Amino acid sequence: MLRGQIAADWLIVGAGFAGVAFARRLSEINPDLKIIIVDAYSPRESASARNSGFVIGLPHNIGSSTAELKKANAYRHLLQEGIRQLEQVMAQHGITCDWEKVGKYHCQAERGNDRILQEYARQLDSMEEPWTLAEGDALYQKLGTRFYHKGIYTPGCVLVNPAQLIAGLNHCLPENVQRYDNTPVLGVRYGSVAEVLTPYGVIRTPRIMLATNALSPELRPGLSRQAAMATFASLTDPLTDAQLASLPPMQSWGLTPVNAIAGATFRFTPDRRFLIRQHVIPALKGQVSAAQTWQATQLHQQLFHKVYPTLREVSISQTWSGTLSVTRNGAPEWGELNRFICTAGGCNGAGVSKQTVAGSLLADFMLKQDNPHLADMLSLGKASFMPPSPALDIGIALSLQKERYLGRKEV
Ligand SMILES: Cc1cc2nc3c(=O)[nH]c(=O)nc-3n(C[C@H](O)[C@H](O)[C@H](O)COP(=O)(O)OP(=O)(O)OC[C@H]3O[C@@H](n4cnc5c(N)ncnc54)[C@H](O)[C@@H]3O)c2cc1C
Repeated sequence: MLRGQIAADWLIVGAGFAGVAFARRLSEINPDLKIIIVDAYSPRESASARNSGFVIGLPHNIGSSTAELKKANAYRHLLQEGIRQLEQVMAQHGITCDWEKVGKYHCQAERGNDRILQEYARQLDSMEEPWTLAEGDALYQKLGTRFYHKGIYTPGCVLVNPAQLIAGLNHCLPENVQRYDNTPVLGVRYGSVAEVLTPYGVIRTPRIMLATNALSPELRPGLSRQAAMATFASLTDPLTDAQLASLPPMQSWGLTPVNAIAGATFRFTPDRRFLIRQHVIPALKGQVSAAQTWQATQLHQQLFHKVYPTLREVSISQTWSGTLSVTRNGAPEWGELNRFICTAGGCNGAGVSKQTVAGSLLADFMLKQDNPHLADMLSLGKASFMPPSPALDIGIALSLQKERYLGRKEV
């Protein structure tokens, strides 16, 4: 925790994937800078630690128009650059985090309507991405369930233990980066430099990078462009030898649903557990109650029994929540916000590879470095303005209701 008054060339608020990638790249560009990174909590408590561990190399939604395809290509290059950067730091510092390049299945439970998967396959073809279709017994042999009707397998996704990865990245920050946990930023006073206020200390700095995604909106100057949502994940107990033997022989796998709001992300982990990520709720203040988490546990348990009816005795051992950011047009909130503040936010639900590359490229952008990936980042466009509450709350509630209705057969 920070105590007293200190000065820095750069202050980074938030030690998730965006914050640590920005810190690392800033330090690479100029190792003489004094860089401070503060987080309200510890590295194992952010959404960066509490996610489902899909390090994606392809956008979830591609779109079929020429403009959408161009954007999807730019986005793909960025995600793959994010994976490359993570791999490089992991190798350099020996970070262990169950990094497994096993690809993923994009699955549909509903029978008799293959429109979404056919469209996805067409889009993958137009991007010249390899994929294979799995259905029936072949899909059962991979996933051990007949709940899903069909799945498209793409090989580029990595599965990881995200808590170990982000903790490792925080532990091996360069020497000129000083980290303070349990140091929430309460406000910023603007003068010739910015004075950043924390409970027991003040940081004087000319430059601030907000790596808070949609959290702490009061720190962002200008119009609101992001909304915080929360989603939940659970892990089951590890399967016993007998339970494992009742399924086809399985290696680690990951599955994303055709409808990310209604449907569930599933994983089978290297330590024989199932991970379930499902249920999305508005969390404009960044908070989730114990009752909401309890409700998610019940939903996950019911869903698990529906997907694996033969494993009724397997219980959920933990459920947690985390926040994500949603922007109205799906573009990131990225770049300079005023002469003191820049940001890399607006993850729109996926952030391991995406926020890594968004954070590192922001350092290049702010320090005016040439980087061929900057053109791709800028081509994603800018997040559009969001109306304030209560219009925002109504808009979010309606769009969640619509997605839950459209995806009702996926759970
Ligand atoms: C359950 C769940 C599953 C997910 N699954 C996946 C997945 O499989 N793959 C994927 O790519 N993405 C996934 N995501 C999304 C991913 O976790 C986020 O996109 C990613 O964590 C965003 O990274 P970030 O660094 O931008 O923000 P965060 O990880 O949210 O980090 C922001 C940090 O800012 C800090 N902060 C906020 N306000 C302040 C303040 N005032 N002062 C100091 N510090 C502050 C917070 O404490 C936090 O540590 C999932 C998210 C959740 C919740």
